[in-house]
Amino acid sequence: MEKLRFGTAGIPISTIKRDSVEGVKRVSELNLECMELEFVRGVNLGQEKAEQIKKIAQKLDISLTAHGPYYINLNAKEPQKRGASRSRILKTARAANWAGAKSITFHAAYYLKQDPKQVYAKVKEQFKKILDVLNNEGNKVMIRPELTGKATQWGDIDELIKLSQEFEQVLPCVDFAHYHARHIGKYNSYEGFVRILEKIEKGLGREALDNMHIHVSGILYSDKGERKHLPLKESDLKYKQMIKAWKEFNIKGIVISESPNIEQDAQLLRDIW
Ligand SMILES: [Zn+2]
Repeated sequence: MEKLRFGTAGIPISTIKRDSVEGVKRVSELNLECMELEFVRGVNLGQEKAEQIKKIAQKLDISLTAHGPYYINLNAKEPQKRGASRSRILKTARAANWAGAKSITFHAAYYLKQDPKQVYAKVKEQFKKILDVLNNEGNKVMIRPELTGKATQWGDIDELIKLSQEFEQVLPCVDFAHYHARHIGKYNSYEGFVRILEKIEKGLGREALDNMHIHVSGILYSDKGERKHLPLKESDLKYKQMIKAWKEFNIKGIVISESPNIEQDAQLLRDIW
């Protein structure tokens, strides 16, 4: 990507008509440059509507991404549940593709108290199945498992980098707030943020830093990790130091604000950048 773009997780709050086409227009009015389509409660976007969103997003130069449903666990014990999880990811990827979105993200799996190495192997096997289907369909949307906010959820940075090395169509979605929430407050500093970016550059090369998909929000966490999202100014996230680290690495791509005041924090981050 040519630069770092800032935008909202879903339709901005200040959008008068609650509709994705109107949301894209509002993003543009707010001088933001990207929006994530939220399918967190299920993928309910048809092809016709998706193509309307694509048209307006292209016209206004708004980049799109998508967030898949919360009900996904590629490490589920029951084969039907793994199948349903794959199908939710595929539906997200198809809707994203119709809308011209470049990447999708989702919380891939839970450890269920199993050995992380075994879980990694199971997740990888499920990704292989998903990518085979997308490959057959000619769908090139990037599949980006998210850096998750709880230690019970699969998806720490090293696991995501490893999986990205195995599949060409996979890259991490780096949630900087989740990173320190899952590590109970650790890495919430310039050095901590640099640590993630160094890992990405070392594991995936400069191209990955030029093509980031980032989530940011304030987060309230306990000793079990993430509890709920907060506005940045009410949280402990050292977002100015985070942006300093981003500048240092001159990253490019997409930053999605997932704060409760979505567009305000997107603008705050953009202005600091
Ligand atoms: Zn998420």
